[in-house]
Amino acid sequence: MTSTDRIRAAIRDVPDFPKPGIIFKDITPVLGDGALFRATTDLFVEQLAGLGVTRVAGIDARGFIFAGAVADRLGIGFIPIRKKGKLPSKTHRASYQLEYGESTLELHEDAVHPGEKVALIDDVLATGGTAAAAIKLLQDCQAQVLSVQFFIELGFLQGRQNLPPVPISSIVIY
Ligand code: AMP
Repeated sequence: MTSTDRIRAAIRDVPDFPKPGIIFKDITPVLGDGALFRATTDLFVEQLAGLGVTRVAGIDARGFIFAGAVADRLGIGFIPIRKKGKLPSKTHRASYQLEYGESTLELHEDAVHPGEKVALIDDVLATGGTAAAAIKLLQDCQAQVLSVQFFIELGFLQGRQNLPPVPISSIVIY
């Protein structure tokens, strides 16, 4: 079994969470296993080899877990992209559609230097609205988004079609 196979086997499907009809991909069994968590971080880090990324951005909240681990492993800074109202200083904002209603992400205006090489990480790519908003925020700060990485991609939802032309990779694809 490859490490990707072991990781895939540990992801738990929880039907009808948070609402009927959604199959929630529960990553807590992966995070709770030290070897699997490390193997996941290894796979993220391998994909960034040679890119010269100087900061890792993560999306609130589960994206923070992987982005923080990857940033620490590379010895570079971590940038939080947060849900509305959580960041204390001046922010850029981007709103996007959810299945029902709308949500807003924020990024500190001075979180990234213009031209800086950034990798973006989140836990799940579903329809792509969340990641598209996060990429826009980084680009509003004039960051170069060199890599967008997901732990899980729900390929059947074709979320990649809603993302701009940046390099995208996922560790486990359904
Ligand atoms: P989307 O904007 O549709 O790509 O949704 C992505 C965000 O929603 C991610 O940050 C995930 O945390 C969460 N998400 C969407 N669908 C699922 C799912 N089936 N299981 C777990 N998380 C999900």
